[in-house]
Amino acid sequence: MDNLFETINKIISSPLWTLALYVFLFFLVVFWLVLVFWTFKDARKRIDDPVIVGVAVLSSLVLPYMGTLVYTILRPAEYLSEARERELEMRAMEQELQTLRACPSCGGIVRPDYLACPNCRRPLRAACSHCGRVLEPGWKLCPYCGRDATQRRVPPPGSRDSERGGEDRGQFEATLSEGKQPSLAEAE
Ligand SMILES: [Zn+2]
Ligand SMILES: [Zn+2]
Repeated sequence: MDNLFETINKIISSPLWTLALYVFLFFLVVFWLVLVFWTFKDARKRIDDPVIVGVAVLSSLVLPYMGTLVYTILRPAEYLSEARERELEMRAMEQELQTLRACPSCGGIVRPDYLACPNCRRPLRAACSHCGRVLEPGWKLCPYCGRDATQRRVPPPGSRDSERGGEDRGQFEATLSEGKQPSLAEAE
C-alpha cells in the first residue's frame, strides 16, 4: 500500500506531471475561448437583436462550457438568412396570386400570359407574330422584339368584344393560326 502511495506521490510531484497538467489546462482555456467565439458567430447569424447576441456571448464567457450549452439549447432554430428567404418566397407567392385575374366571361382564373381562357375559350390577348410572346391589349409594338404589333392586336377584353364576340373570336383564331407558322409569314 505504502508503495502505491509513494509512486502516486512521485508521479504528482514529477515535473512531467505538472507539465501535462498545464497543457491540459491550456487546452481547456483555448476550447472555452473557441466556444465563446463560436457562440458569437452563431448568435449573429440567428439573432437580430445585438443586445441578445451580447447576452449569449457574455453567458458563454462567464459560465465556461455551461453558458454555451445553455445557448445551444435556447438559440433560435432558424438562421436569419433562412427566415428572410422564406419571407421573400411568401411575398413572391402573394404577388403571383395577385397577378392571377378572373376571366371577364366565365370568372375562371387566368394567368397574365394566357392568350385565351382555357375554360370558356374567350380570347384575352394576342401573341407577337415575330417572337410569339404575349402582348398586352394596349401595346402598339412588341416590347420583346421591337416589331410593330398593331396588325395582330385583339380588342381588350370587355370593350367591343362583348358586343360582337363571334366576329372578333374568328379574327383572333385566324391570327393565332398565323402565329403558329411564323416561318411562312417571314418567307413572304
Ligand atoms: Zn373564361
Ligand atoms: Zn415580338
